[in-house]
Amino acid sequence: MAWKKEKKKREKAAEGGAVRTHYPLWDNYREALGCLVAEIGGKSLWVMGGDILLAVLCPFAAMALPSAVVYLLGSGWEPGMIFLALAGYVMALQALNLLQGYLNATYYKRRFVTRIGMGVQLFKTILGMDFETFESRKGQEKIEGGKGNIYRGNDEGIEAFLGAVSGGAAACLGLAVYSIVIGLLNPWALLLLLLASGAVMGVHFYADKRSVRYEDAYIKNNQSYNYLKREVMAPAGGKDIRLYRMWNWFQREFETMKEEFARIAAKQSKCGNSAHIVESVLSFARDLLMYVWLIDQMAQGRIDLAAFLLYVGIAGGFNGWMSSLIQNLKGILYQNRHMDRYRDCMKLGQEEEGGGQAVSSPGRSHEIRLEHVSFRYEGNEEDTIHDLSLTIRPGEKIALVGMNGAGKSTLVKLVCGLYQPSRGKIYLDGQDVSKLSRREYRREFAVVFQEVFAFSFPLGENVTCRREEDINRERLKECLQKADLWERVQEMEKQEHTYLNKDVDASGINLSGGELQKLMLARALYKDSPVVILDEPTAVLDPIAESSMYDKYYEMTREKTSIFISHRLSSTKFCDRILYMDKGRITEEGNHVQLMEKQGAYAYMFHTQAQYYQEDEKKEKGEN
Ligand code: ADP
Repeated sequence: MAWKKEKKKREKAAEGGAVRTHYPLWDNYREALGCLVAEIGGKSLWVMGGDILLAVLCPFAAMALPSAVVYLLGSGWEPGMIFLALAGYVMALQALNLLQGYLNATYYKRRFVTRIGMGVQLFKTILGMDFETFESRKGQEKIEGGKGNIYRGNDEGIEAFLGAVSGGAAACLGLAVYSIVIGLLNPWALLLLLLASGAVMGVHFYADKRSVRYEDAYIKNNQSYNYLKREVMAPAGGKDIRLYRMWNWFQREFETMKEEFARIAAKQSKCGNSAHIVESVLSFARDLLMYVWLIDQMAQGRIDLAAFLLYVGIAGGFNGWMSSLIQNLKGILYQNRHMDRYRDCMKLGQEEEGGGQAVSSPGRSHEIRLEHVSFRYEGNEEDTIHDLSLTIRPGEKIALVGMNGAGKSTLVKLVCGLYQPSRGKIYLDGQDVSKLSRREYRREFAVVFQEVFAFSFPLGENVTCRREEDINRERLKECLQKADLWERVQEMEKQEHTYLNKDVDASGINLSGGELQKLMLARALYKDSPVVILDEPTAVLDPIAESSMYDKYYEMTREKTSIFISHRLSSTKFCDRILYMDKGRITEEGNHVQLMEKQGAYAYMFHTQAQYYQEDEKKEKGEN
């Protein structure tokens, strides 16, 4: 038995059953109501309450109409009076129905607006998320889960949750009314109905509990599925997919995921199907017992035909509300899990949690000190940065070199506050960076990363990261000129107002890799921060642009602290100090001459590169 239990546990873990926090249902509901009120205002609660009340009152009043007719006919009133009373009853009933329709539609609209509003909150949370969490697999999983509360249409997530709670409340109220009526007529009949309905409810909840783990598995599979969809539909990977015949790989992955979706759906529907079968059997037994008992009562002359029909009507009403309660409770439990995931996502590491101190000397050249800094990526077995200590003096120009995978980009991300050290500390002018406001801290850095990437906004907005009306045109021009992009922009019909890419504006233009890199440079220049970090800024520039960039490097970083990562070792001669990184450690440091004299890894790398160029030159001259 033990191994069976163990296997089940492992299966459950593999399905991803433990990725979600369970919040108390009431707490989730309070949160959802809070969002409703925040989005639309307190009046929504009256709309919701009125909708619930009338949802019970209207059918009850309609059911009571025949009894009212019988009562009035036997009351001895004048026919005119009876007519007037009945007309008044029917008109009041219609008015109530109309009001209920209005309240129901209004509440529906308000739930929709609440969902959209919560979607905006979700985006804000994601945008404010610290990068490390955002980038990690766990973070992405939580975001995927949180999205489910908002972006699966009207019938799933927050909108359905609020709807199911109202429906459940109406069902409880309806059941209470019918239970009182049945209890007054016959307490045993009430007990019978309650027992049978309780059993049906139990079966449903058992099935529901079993299906939970498949929802988490669905989310995991969906995350991978979304990734594949994105890659297939985005032009970026389109070339490689076609040139390297990768469609077979994609097709196989899609097939595997389809099978996984089918497996999850089959398991979920199996849970639901068995619950429905048991529900049918129990409901049939309940109704059979009820009818047998009523027929027996009539046969013994204890009740007349009118009472028999009344009992049947009331029992039918009771069963209707009971089914509604079961459906709504199931809905509440199901949608509550979306709320759990949403709240989990909303709690993911926000950058400004706990406030954070201000940078003591913003805008001035800084000293950056790393003390025994180690860093490990989530899910990796080893540290990428090992116990690294380093001081970069104010205004110093550092070149960071080393083989691929040495940890240079990771170090840069640590320094500019995108990652937090796993161990050790980073100081900015002696201030512990972990205590600083991350947004303020990052204002001190202008970084150009290896991966060049522009948003589908106008070119000027891409450079300045400001709205059109807030752009300093003179400064924009100056930065575009320094980045050698001004002339190219002047050739464009709408100049800096030209949209990049064609996602937003069909007349947008696509820049080449080199032009994009210049754009990123212009962006860093416009930001004008006291620390400049350039991670392979010349990787896709042509030799002329590359040489011009080196010439300008000093001017760009004048009076600034800078870190320059480059594979072109000749470019590092401009720097005050060169750091050679290997496997997450700085293994050599000094200026170019010192490192060449040392005859270490830097010198070896430099010679290898120089040799390559010399051989090329020799070949061109026809020498051997
Ligand atoms: P470099 O810039 O020197 O080429 P990186 O800092 O990019 O090196 O990468 C250093 C190591 O960290 C590599 O082994 C890489 O596999 C690993 N790494 C980089 N990014 C991630 C990530 N997001 N998750 C896990 N490991 C990563």
